[in-house]
Amino acid sequence: MDVNVLYNFNIDKEMDSIRQSIDELRGLEDEVLKLKKYIKPCIYYKDMKIKSIEKDKVILDEIDIDSAYLSKGLLGCHKVTLIALSIGDELPKYTQKKYLESKFSQSSIADILGSHAVEILIDKFHNYLISKNLLRGVHSSLRFSPGYGDWDLTYQKNILDILETHKDIDVSSNFLLQPIKSVTAIIGWAHQIRERDYPTGYKNDICKGINTCSSCRTWACKK
Ligand code: SF4
Repeated sequence: MDVNVLYNFNIDKEMDSIRQSIDELRGLEDEVLKLKKYIKPCIYYKDMKIKSIEKDKVILDEIDIDSAYLSKGLLGCHKVTLIALSIGDELPKYTQKKYLESKFSQSSIADILGSHAVEILIDKFHNYLISKNLLRGVHSSLRFSPGYGDWDLTYQKNILDILETHKDIDVSSNFLLQPIKSVTAIIGWAHQIRERDYPTGYKNDICKGINTCSSCRTWACKK
């Protein structure tokens, strides 16, 4: 299936939930609204068949992913959706500009807004996919990103290559996404209702992370 690209995400509709759900920005609603024009979401996504799931590897149609953590998280799924989402580079540029002008409060508000906006938009998009798939009796796994457990950050590049995002989203040589307020993710889909907990447990059972511990976002083996 081809890559889908969504540019017409209705940010006006989402601004209320973004404003209400960010505790750090309570009382700053007017400032936040003024920043709305700098948020330009784009979402790339593509469904892909899972060929097989081994103990420490997920084999998809177009890529093999070495990760025991992801194997456990996607167990029972028959397909995935790969996603790359960004709010664009205008808000990060504004954040940097205000910082260089020593307007630290304005810079900080924009930075906090950008981080939360990415999270809220990917949650909303995930919920949209859930409703779409539920109509076909297909249930969502949790959402995973490179950096979770032993899923190496280098896979961010693979996801962007598959989704052909480079016009809008790229990755630096040290695997930071550009624009910085962007995210890559994978969601699994199964005919059975999925567990709602992220994999945890002893090292080796869920994660063979050795070199990946420094970039691990979950510390799942410690939970
Ligand atoms: S901290 Fe634990 S879960 Fe994270 S990569 Fe290392 S072994 Fe895996």
